Amino acid sequence: MMYMKQRHKKRAGLLVISLLFLCLLSEAFVWQMQMKKVKETWQESMEEKMEDENRMQSEVKKIAYITFDDGPSQYTARILDVLKMYHAPATFFLIGTNICEERKPVLMRMEKEGHAIGIHTYSHNAKEIYASNESFQEDFMRAEEMLNRYFPNHKMNLYRFPWGSENAYLKPIEKGVFTWLREKKITYVDWNVSGEDSVGNPSGSQIFENVKKDVTRFQEPVILLHDSSINKNTVSILPCILAYLQENGYQFQTITTMKNPYQFPKD
Ligand SMILES: [Zn+2]
Repeated sequence: MMYMKQRHKKRAGLLVISLLFLCLLSEAFVWQMQMKKVKETWQESMEEKMEDENRMQSEVKKIAYITFDDGPSQYTARILDVLKMYHAPATFFLIGTNICEERKPVLMRMEKEGHAIGIHTYSHNAKEIYASNESFQEDFMRAEEMLNRYFPNHKMNLYRFPWGSENAYLKPIEKGVFTWLREKKITYVDWNVSGEDSVGNPSGSQIFENVKKDVTRFQEPVILLHDSSINKNTVSILPCILAYLQENGYQFQTITTMKNPYQFPKD
């Protein structure tokens, strides 16, 4: 009888221990599941946060660099007025022979209103500029000297080749030219979007279409426009171009703020 009682006690004990063990096991399982859920939720919120940051970064990175070649001209003041209205800093690549005392006020405005100024050429005559390394340097230095006279506080280290850095006139002498510019610490800049406003006599809407067809492909478009006596239509369409860029999320900056100023790819 005693023996039977002891066996029942032992069984009951084992049962209690088994039950306790099962309880612990299920607790551990529930806790593990809860931890998994917490981890998943945390991961999801981190992913969402990263996506938001990436979206914000890519939105911030949309910067349009408007550039005007061939100025100053009789239209420069109007261009400056439009840029001011849209709070749009731009970059002007100037021609030496277009600079004179009468245009000093617009040149001063360019600087005062936060635009960047670069050298384009003195003569804008392909046969003169690209005749030889020496001719290239001579043309460049004449323009540089002229600009230094009007902008004594401005470091002239930006340059745009007339017809761009891939033009056929430059090819035979390009090696020497690139080396010379590098030694002088001059950065040249090309473009990836063009208003095509110096070819033929396009209407304002044609210029606008030329910009629109390419510009949204780039997060950092460098847009080529002209400021010369033939560019009346560029001035009249400029507000539409700037408004379109703003509506598409672009901010405006000068080339001097571009990390790697755009240059045509070389072979
Ligand atoms: Zn030009």
